Amino acid sequence: MRRNKLHLRRWLFNCAGALSLVLCVGVLGLGVHTHYRGLYLEWHTHAGDRYSAVASRGTIVAEQEWNEIYSSLAPGPVEGFELYSAAGPLVDPAGWQWPAPDWEARMLGYGVVIHRSKSLGPRLQSVRPGPWQSTVLILPIWLLAALFAAPSGLWLYRWSARRQRRRRLGAGLCPTCGYDVRATPDRCPECGTIPSPPHNPPMQRTGAAGKLLTVRTRLDRGSGH
Ligand SMILES: [Zn+2]
Repeated sequence: MRRNKLHLRRWLFNCAGALSLVLCVGVLGLGVHTHYRGLYLEWHTHAGDRYSAVASRGTIVAEQEWNEIYSSLAPGPVEGFELYSAAGPLVDPAGWQWPAPDWEARMLGYGVVIHRSKSLGPRLQSVRPGPWQSTVLILPIWLLAALFAAPSGLWLYRWSARRQRRRRLGAGLCPTCGYDVRATPDRCPECGTIPSPPHNPPMQRTGAAGKLLTVRTRLDRGSGH
C-alpha cells in the first residue's frame, strides 16, 4: 500500500516534470515564433464581452473588453472564436498606449492596464465607440518559460541524481559520495551513509544481500584450502 502510494507520487512527479519541460520548450518556441509571425486569438460572447490574446514580439497581451456597441448594436461581432496568424509581428505591445487608463503598471515587460466605463475621444470613436471598459494583462513570454522551467529543472535534477544513485549502488559504490563500499556494504566509511534498499529493487544488490555475498565469498575462500 505504501509502495503503491510512493509509486503514484513518483508517477505524478514524473508527469508534472515532463509536462512542464514540454511546456517550457513550447513556450520558448512560441516566443521566438512571435518575432516572425503574430498570433491572435479572440472570443466574443453574446453579452458583448470580448476576450483576446495577442502574441507578438515575445509578449502576450491578454485583454478582457466590454464595449457597448458589442452588446447593443446589431449586427455585432460574430459570437465565438477567431484565430489567426499573420506574417511579421502583429503589434509592438511595448509601444501600446491606452488612453487615460484608471490604472496602469508596467515593469520589465509585464504589466496591467485597467480602463473602466469611459468614452474615448473622437479620434478613437471609430475604433471603440460608446462607453467601454477593459482589463489588460501584459505577459512577457520569457516569464512564462521561466515559470515552467523551475519544475522541469527540479525534475531533471532529481532524475539525474536518482540515475547516479542507481549507478553507484550497482557498482558497489556509496550512493551519496561514491566511495567504494564493496568491503563495507552496511555503512559507508567515508560519509556514514547507510544504504537503504531501493524502493523498487529490480536486479540490484541491497545492503543485506551485499553483506550475504561478502560472507559467502569469505566462506568460499575459507573452504578453498
Ligand atoms: Zn559515502
